[in-house]
Amino acid sequence: AAYAPAMSRDRRIGVMGGTFDPVHHGHLVAASEVQARFNLDEVIFVPTGEPWQKGARAVSPAEDRYLMTVIATASNPRFSVSRVDIDREGPTYTVDTLQDLRLARPGADVFFITGADALAQILSWHDAEKLFGLAHFIGVTRPGYTLDDHHLPDGSVTLVEVPAMAISSTACRERVALGEPVWYLVPDGVVQYIQKRNLYSAEIIGVRSE
Ligand code: ATP
Ligand code: MG
Repeated sequence: AAYAPAMSRDRRIGVMGGTFDPVHHGHLVAASEVQARFNLDEVIFVPTGEPWQKGARAVSPAEDRYLMTVIATASNPRFSVSRVDIDREGPTYTVDTLQDLRLARPGADVFFITGADALAQILSWHDAEKLFGLAHFIGVTRPGYTLDDHHLPDGSVTLVEVPAMAISSTACRERVALGEPVWYLVPDGVVQYIQKRNLYSAEIIGVRSE
């Protein structure tokens, strides 16, 4: 099989964790750019399970976020989606994500891709010291945030400039709730999935339309 342990050695794997509620072109451009720049064999998108840093709002069902991520990545032969976080009980910690993925692909070099905003949080993450032994971190630029290595351990992080996409899932959800278009902010199939499942309606996310 493609993920047989013997074939994992020397494979270069990117990991893109996120809530992906919904996945948008900012995520996809960042992953594509890092894939090309670091010559990665595969970039694995990993939708979070029960979110631990987003306690305030109701996050869409994991199954919807997983399917939107599959729809968005299906056409790229180097992109895949993992269920490790949504199938694990309890809150998602990146240290568990990386340990599970390393078990599935022993010997692979792992690169964890994170936007400038998330990189700034990283020292507050569960088991932060352990993280740097499990993957090399790639911090990517994101409009509205300053990309900085935050004095993370020497050699553990590489900062990369990616094409600026001023898109966030939060803004996409608000646009849907207000009846504004999200065409071209998210892939076409994701626009259609949002409509089909009636995600992000005003009552659910608490946006008032005038
Ligand atoms: P939300 O508004 O719900 O927080 P988001 O747009 O920030 O959604 P996440 O799922 O939280 O998306 O992000 C997953 C990862 O993708 C994070 O590392 C984040 O920094 C990165 N990311 C998200 N949007 C962009 C973007 N436009 N450019 C670069 N990186 C991004
Ligand atoms: Mg975010």
